[in-house]
Amino acid sequence: MLHIHEGQCGLCTHFGEEHPQDQRLTHIRTSMEADEEFVDICGHPLLERLHLKVTATSGCDGFEPAVVH
Ligand code: SF4
Repeated sequence: MLHIHEGQCGLCTHFGEEHPQDQRLTHIRTSMEADEEFVDICGHPLLERLHLKVTATSGCDGFEPAVVH
């Protein structure tokens, strides 16, 4: 299990942005932990068309904090 910190994809609004209601994303954001195998597509406007897949502990300067409902 990976522990996720501020600034990493698992807490970014662009991580899995095309399916924001996904319960797996909510779980990652509330527990701040994710399975090592879990990857999702980054929806950042500069990267979206590349379909970049990132882990929950990846990161970049485009980080924007996700709002957890
Ligand atoms: S790669 Fe950057 S913009 Fe994309 S989800 Fe990760 S931190 Fe957010």
